[in-house]
Amino acid sequence: MLVVMKKGSTKEDLTGVLHKITQSGLNGHVSQGVERTVIGVVGQTYPELRDILEFLPGVEEVIPISKPYKLSSREVQHENTRIKVGDVVIGGDELVVIAGPCAVETENQVLATAKMVKEAGASILRGGAFKPSTSPYQFRGLGKEGLEILALARAETGLPLITEVLTPHDVELVARYADILQIGARNMQNFTLLDEVGKTKKPVMLKRGMSATIQEWLLSAEYILSQGNRQVMLCERGIRTFETYTRNTLDISAIPVVKKLSHLPVIADPSHGTGKWYLVTPLALAAVAAGADGLMIEVHPNPDQALKDGAQSLTFDSFQQLMTQLAPVVSSVQRKLPAKPGDEVDK
Ligand code: PEP
Ligand code: MN
Repeated sequence: MLVVMKKGSTKEDLTGVLHKITQSGLNGHVSQGVERTVIGVVGQTYPELRDILEFLPGVEEVIPISKPYKLSSREVQHENTRIKVGDVVIGGDELVVIAGPCAVETENQVLATAKMVKEAGASILRGGAFKPSTSPYQFRGLGKEGLEILALARAETGLPLITEVLTPHDVELVARYADILQIGARNMQNFTLLDEVGKTKKPVMLKRGMSATIQEWLLSAEYILSQGNRQVMLCERGIRTFETYTRNTLDISAIPVVKKLSHLPVIADPSHGTGKWYLVTPLALAAVAAGADGLMIEVHPNPDQALKDGAQSLTFDSFQQLMTQLAPVVSSVQRKLPAKPGDEVDK
């Protein structure tokens, strides 16, 4: 349920309500909006609680939340969540482009890619050091060495890093290097992992499970949020359908649906969403037109030689073309692309 505080209610009123909520064995999550302060009450609530809370000083009204997910819901927080990573704001006016290789392979590969994507206008570097693999015989990542290569690329370019964490055990290590923790599609319902990243202070990007409904996806986000970590973004990366031509079916409709149901930023990943490099640009444009707050794009200096996901990776040239083609679509949805290094800044 949702406790809406009166305009002009005091700090003591808020403390009193939070105290009552805790006394009842529940958790209260305060959301200080421009218009009003609301408290999301999370846990096993009971009908009498509504009356109890409604009579406390400073309370305007108590509204039951109709959705099973609470903290991720627009009912609890009307304003969009904005996540700040260094100078980059995810969920704001600027479209955020996350780019880099599927997997960290060598120092040269990551450094060359990082420099190029930065030049072309990307604002966050991606790269997997711990890779989930359908087959145990595929490349599974360089582990800690991969994290060190990513950190070097951040030092050289200033780009913040996003990288995947596969197990609860690795969260502490990966969080020491990463600016954003990625939870992969295969781990969307790994609840102990979600709890663990929820206990960190790092932003988390939660990818949609390949067979997950939107509700299941938002409930997974709820695991992270309810641990106290409010910096969660969602990533639509394609779902399993009967179609075999594409690797997955990028669910473009999920983007406006999630934006309607939730205040969390939504990133689209047309690389995993299609599995084919020549479909990445058209689907990236579609995702931005549909309201995505950002894109995640796989880029490799030589996709034919990539150890993972070469078929869906853009070359440097095709990534630059994508960035050029994005400009008119971005402005048609009243967004901006961040200034590129060397761009004229308005005085
Ligand atoms: C990835 O981003 O490299 C990845 C493994 O993605 P997903 O979890 O969506 O398959
Ligand atoms: Mn990949």
